[in-house]
Amino acid sequence: MKRDNKARYILSASVFAFVAAGLTAVKLNVEKKVLLADRFFPDTGAWIEIFFIAVYGAVVAYNMYDPSNVAKWRKYTWGLFSFVFFGQLLLGISGFEDFLMTAGKLHLPVPAMIIGGPIYRYQIGFMTILFTSTVILSGPAWCSHFCYFGALDNLLASGKPERGRIKFKTQLKATTAVLVVFGALLLRLLGASYKVAAIAGGAFGIAGILVIIFVSRKKGKMVHCTSYCPVGTLINYARFINPFRMYIDKNSCTLCYACTSHCRYDALNPEDIKSGSPGINCTLCGDCISSCHAGSIKYKLFKLSPETSRLIWLFITVSLHAMFIALARL
Ligand code: SF4
Ligand code: SF4
Ligand code: SF4
Repeated sequence: MKRDNKARYILSASVFAFVAAGLTAVKLNVEKKVLLADRFFPDTGAWIEIFFIAVYGAVVAYNMYDPSNVAKWRKYTWGLFSFVFFGQLLLGISGFEDFLMTAGKLHLPVPAMIIGGPIYRYQIGFMTILFTSTVILSGPAWCSHFCYFGALDNLLASGKPERGRIKFKTQLKATTAVLVVFGALLLRLLGASYKVAAIAGGAFGIAGILVIIFVSRKKGKMVHCTSYCPVGTLINYARFINPFRMYIDKNSCTLCYACTSHCRYDALNPEDIKSGSPGINCTLCGDCISSCHAGSIKYKLFKLSPETSRLIWLFITVSLHAMFIALARL
């Protein structure tokens, strides 16, 4: 127990130090005032913000250390991330431009634009670099902690999950991915204006919101993220460039399937469990860990123990989550 507490405090203190150091580096090296408080209180605002964001990261890490807290804390902190993002966006477009990162040059807040945008523009932007770095550092955590849109799917899909795999998931994913890639390419080749491209992107985003409201909520599973969003599909495969994995220890698993109803990402169906690893939609979120009476669901990072692997993953993911709350604005 004592050892547990020590690891918990080390995790929490490490997140505090990393977030504080990372945001300090941003404050000292980026000419533009990207920290919000810096814009309103030029002398001390940024330092106070850095302190509070680092404390926030430490508190989240402290609580998520306990696997039985993960689902609850992830839901709230991810929801907060989305609230901060859209709150700043709304204030920004309502005339308070200081709330916008790009001072008026907006991007469409629809995740599919991470793929469609660069294809349409024939140009890689800041978002592509941020997205790729995140996948390299923490694998699929983009879809469990960092995306402003996915938090809504997670929130609305929090009812009792329907039994059985989401039907036609693979076909739906493939269709929307093809639609976004070829749609963006077609708009480019036809010389469509930004306005037309934005309307097409907006329509795709609105259809996604309808999926969240009418399908995810009913099924108790994140149908939008697992079957509609092409960025989720990209992450399903791109995540393998990151070394973190989740597996089911076949030696101790009793095939009781209690964990199945704890995965909103439809990644713990009986076939997945029997195979020894969650399905391709797994985001390493950790919601399922405490649901297993046998402790069979484990993180893996090279040859490290499952506990150490999990702690390193939490350190990276919670640190990035806290830093992005301070930096992720349009
Ligand atoms: S699947 Fe799409 S909407 Fe869902 S969390 Fe990932 S990027 Fe965001
Ligand atoms: S809850 Fe644990 S023991 Fe039961 S099926 Fe899932 S992994 Fe296996
Ligand atoms: S299998 Fe577990 S870790 Fe993976 S997405 Fe489902 S709940 Fe999260």
